[in-house]
Amino acid sequence: MPLRATKRGAQRTPLQGDCEILICGASFAGLAVARELAGCGAKVLVIDRYEIGERQTSACGIPTDWLTRLSLQDSLRQTFDELVVHTPWASERWRLPWSFSTFDYRDMCALLWQHAGLADDCFETAKVDGITRGLSTHPPEGLHTVHTDRGDIRAPLVIDALGWRRVLARSMEIQPPNARLSRGLEVHPAGSGSEMELWIDAKYVRAGYGWSFPAREEMRVGVGSFWPSHHVKEPTVRLAGDLGLPPDGYQGNWIPHQLRPATEDGVFFVGDSAGHCLPLTAEGIRTALYFGIACGQELRSVLAGTLTREQALARYAAFSDSHEWKFRWLLHSQRAVGRLTTTPLVSALVKGMARPRISHWAFDHYLKIAPPSFATPPRGASPARQALASVG
Ligand SMILES: Cc1cc2nc3c(=O)[nH]c(=O)nc-3n(C[C@H](O)[C@H](O)[C@H](O)COP(=O)(O)OP(=O)(O)OC[C@H]3O[C@@H](n4cnc5c(N)ncnc54)[C@H](O)[C@@H]3O)c2cc1C
Repeated sequence: MPLRATKRGAQRTPLQGDCEILICGASFAGLAVARELAGCGAKVLVIDRYEIGERQTSACGIPTDWLTRLSLQDSLRQTFDELVVHTPWASERWRLPWSFSTFDYRDMCALLWQHAGLADDCFETAKVDGITRGLSTHPPEGLHTVHTDRGDIRAPLVIDALGWRRVLARSMEIQPPNARLSRGLEVHPAGSGSEMELWIDAKYVRAGYGWSFPAREEMRVGVGSFWPSHHVKEPTVRLAGDLGLPPDGYQGNWIPHQLRPATEDGVFFVGDSAGHCLPLTAEGIRTALYFGIACGQELRSVLAGTLTREQALARYAAFSDSHEWKFRWLLHSQRAVGRLTTTPLVSALVKGMARPRISHWAFDHYLKIAPPSFATPPRGASPARQALASVG
């Protein structure tokens, strides 16, 4: 097990106090919210179990336009205009109407944090354990208390960007087998390649797919299963072996494949915690950024006094819900592909997608689910106020 960077021992001083906005989780979703709040002048605190950029859990592939529009191109590693898709019967080349890029996780997180323009003491490592919700009968009205392993932090505006576990929710079944989850695992051996490749092949996974994403001096090779009960370690090692690569640098996670409520009892949920990862493709980075921006914009309106917290919660929930049919449609496609994997029909589908007219139509519609035009340029840093009223 790698030793992750976090505060240890005597560094883990008590952490207590109040802030205006508490962002729990400092990966794609949490950092996108923080970035959108740049220059708002509020007391913002971001907390995560680990230091920023410390724990990569994905192959870090994203439509290139999202990187450039967010001014994150310094994290870019490699760009692809085509996707090579293998089935047991054939291999096809899908020409994409827009390019896809791999990026470096640590670099991207550092850039997002830089764009947020927050002072160093606006980030703390702490493990979030739960929340006591601010009730109107429990003054001061609406102030939530988030419990961490270093103490309690109070804030009226709390964001759960903690990933699939949805730590700050109380009412959802989020553990398999009751929750709608896929699972993914990959290895990151040193190596290089020029093709972005997918395998839809029951030899590796009965319902799901394998992938190989080159990222300059590193390969990201993995297997995702739409069925949580199917293990992915052995097929991941086998796929890497078939590509002549050692199984170095494991990383994996559960992947929600159904939209969840984006708000609950006065808390905002963003990214995997709100089920914002797209079914079928398990693409959850661009959507975490997209919904993070949307959430950040609502929070800015609350700070500006043009919306109440309740109005912002309602607007953000409605925005997330308005995507429900697209997620449902992708889930139907995921199930269909899962059923067809063992039949030659999957090969016919893959072949059909190799026709530029069809692949352009499909990929353009797919991109529109969370379009790059939604991405906002960096707002520029402004003097940050100290995050907590009192840090013990
Ligand atoms: C193997 C694999 C490959 C993938 N590849 C891609 C890809 O190429 N492209 C793509 O778009 N998507 C990919 N995904 C999906 C993508 O990784 C997720 O959808 C995305 O990471 C969601 O971002 P997030 O910020 O919501 O959550 P996360 O990235 O999971 O971040 C959650 C953050 O919360 C912190 N945290 C969790 N619990 C606590 C706690 N109790 N206290 C404090 N901190 C806590 C974590 O340390 C972490 O920083 C992949 C997923 C897997 C598993």
